[in-house]
Amino acid sequence: MSQSTDLQHLHSALRLITEIRARSGKLLQNVADGMAVKHGDENKEKRFLSELKTLLDGVSGQIGELEQTLNNQPPISNPLPLGQSVYLSLDTAIDSIPIYQNLVSSYRWLDKTHEYASSAAGFLGQNSLNRSIGKVSKNRRRPNTSHTAPPKSVTLDRILKAILIFKGLMIEWVVVKGFNEESTKPDGSLDVWSDSKYQVFQRITENANAAMLNFQSPLYPELGVKSFMTYLHSFLKLFTEKCKKCGYHLHNNIPPTWREFKTLEPFHEDCRP
Ligand SMILES: [Zn+2]
Repeated sequence: MSQSTDLQHLHSALRLITEIRARSGKLLQNVADGMAVKHGDENKEKRFLSELKTLLDGVSGQIGELEQTLNNQPPISNPLPLGQSVYLSLDTAIDSIPIYQNLVSSYRWLDKTHEYASSAAGFLGQNSLNRSIGKVSKNRRRPNTSHTAPPKSVTLDRILKAILIFKGLMIEWVVVKGFNEESTKPDGSLDVWSDSKYQVFQRITENANAAMLNFQSPLYPELGVKSFMTYLHSFLKLFTEKCKKCGYHLHNNIPPTWREFKTLEPFHEDCRP
């Protein structure tokens, strides 16, 4: 049923209520006044009672009409009892009338958004390359139950150490630091979040994360880990090997921190092929 028809029903119901109030008021007033001069001298009881009956019939007829109108009023589709805010809908101030409507419509939008997000999460979940970082969960309160091994620290000669976080056989996160840098927190656990204080290892951290994604193989995860370890191993000559493009070791005071993924040849960031 259209909104205008709903409003018409509401208008006629309100009009009927006003009329019922007026007629009932008149009826009660007549009862209170009792018999009066207007009823004449003869059969005045009969005239008085007849007048009351007419008024009562009028009131009861209109009550019947009101019931009819309310029965025709369709129930509000899918009522949304939004907690205490439902009382906003009872506020008669003109300014307040749209508030509850807007609230209900926003709530419905939010509900739809949740629904679409759940469907999207379902599709994303089918992608085996997905990572638990930023993972969408249908239920936000549910903890991430995917298996995550405790972080591992890998040391490469006296050059660098890398902290790796594995999810099963997939590498999730890499942090590279200098060989002499602190990599544990005061409680003895590995510090997986703080960056190296050296620019060179910050660059390598960024590049290693890119390499980790590049080498990842959903079908052969162990091959991905192996390729990544080979990549990491190529930094053994970080402070001795020259850039393949410019032929210099230092560029902006930084050695070649980029490794070409296939050949593992060293390049400065600015000299990348
Ligand atoms: Zn270069």
